[in-house]
Amino acid sequence: MGRVYNFSAGPAVLPEEVLKEAAEEMLDYKGTGMSVMEMSHRSKAYDTIIKEAEQDLRDLMNIPDNYKVLFLQGGASQQFAAIPMNLMKNKVADYIITGQWAKKAYQEAQKYGKVNAVASSEDETYSYIPDCSDLPISEDADYVYICENNTIYGTKFKTLPNTKGKTLVSDVSSCFLSEPVDVTKYGIIYGGVQKNIGPAGVVIVIIREDLISDDVLEGTPTMLKYKTQADNDSLYNTPPCYGIYICGKVFKWLKKMGGLEVMKQKNEEKAKVLYDFLDQSKMFKGTVRKEDRSLMNVPFVTGDKDLDAKFVAEAKEAGFENLKGHRTVGGMRASIYNAMPKEGVEKLVAFMKEFEKKNA
Ligand SMILES: *Cc1c(COP(=O)(O)O)cnc(C)c1O
Repeated sequence: MGRVYNFSAGPAVLPEEVLKEAAEEMLDYKGTGMSVMEMSHRSKAYDTIIKEAEQDLRDLMNIPDNYKVLFLQGGASQQFAAIPMNLMKNKVADYIITGQWAKKAYQEAQKYGKVNAVASSEDETYSYIPDCSDLPISEDADYVYICENNTIYGTKFKTLPNTKGKTLVSDVSSCFLSEPVDVTKYGIIYGGVQKNIGPAGVVIVIIREDLISDDVLEGTPTMLKYKTQADNDSLYNTPPCYGIYICGKVFKWLKKMGGLEVMKQKNEEKAKVLYDFLDQSKMFKGTVRKEDRSLMNVPFVTGDKDLDAKFVAEAKEAGFENLKGHRTVGGMRASIYNAMPKEGVEKLVAFMKEFEKKNA
């Protein structure tokens, strides 16, 4: 069997070109006679891999010099603790709860200080982004936290919250590199790479230098202190070497595609194919308020559980994988990250049209 159209929310589809290149280099990376997996992280060859990966990411995102780029382990979830441990000087933080990931981060932070939920969309199953233009931001908040693209619910912040001068921390796991961002608006941008960039096992943290210091909460593990990682250029201990190497290849692929402006355009075109269909379908309905729709994760339902299940099963049969919605939402979800070709979405929509006709 050949490759399928993989609509998984994560780990997710990667560019075929990148996988082929990695396969070619598997046994002998550029004449070293070994795989990147087998290579010392202190070797010259690896030093080039990680330095180039950082530089390419800096180029893509236009990351200013006063920001550090860290390639870490522990996934996005480990950052739910690392962020308060490093940033809570007053032991106060404000969280905007737009889904399960934001809520998990909020709950974890409660271990370390006074944490306020300043806005939430839980009342309507996180199907929208609350108005964040004038929130009751705490005067002594160390930071304001958001999950920018909500992987499970399919919503995205189209404008960043007004933090009233407080440091903004953003989990961008599922929209990383999907469009240009203004890094200077954030204190920390971070995300697990397994949604839109690379294999699970790497989390990238982009952090403004003034937020990196020895002044962290008592008991913060050495490994979770940003200063440890920043002082050692992400090589304090053995990093997730192979994962970073694949991320580096994806950065080069993105540069070749034309960068994040082009990706944004492509992602908009791609998402439009699916949303336009959902908007006119009598059977399938999108579940998210239109103005808050994500370009990356598109949940939809038929309104009938059995029909949903039938659709997922028949779609799988036809080569469209992982369309089942998150277990807490039900229905379907198509994750259409950077590496999903437009053709994949067009074929999915054609399949949905057929299904609708047959099951009307
Ligand atoms: C997947 C995901 C996470 C969790 O990532 P892990 O690397 O598994 O810890 C956190 N936040 C968002 C937005 C996600 O999509």
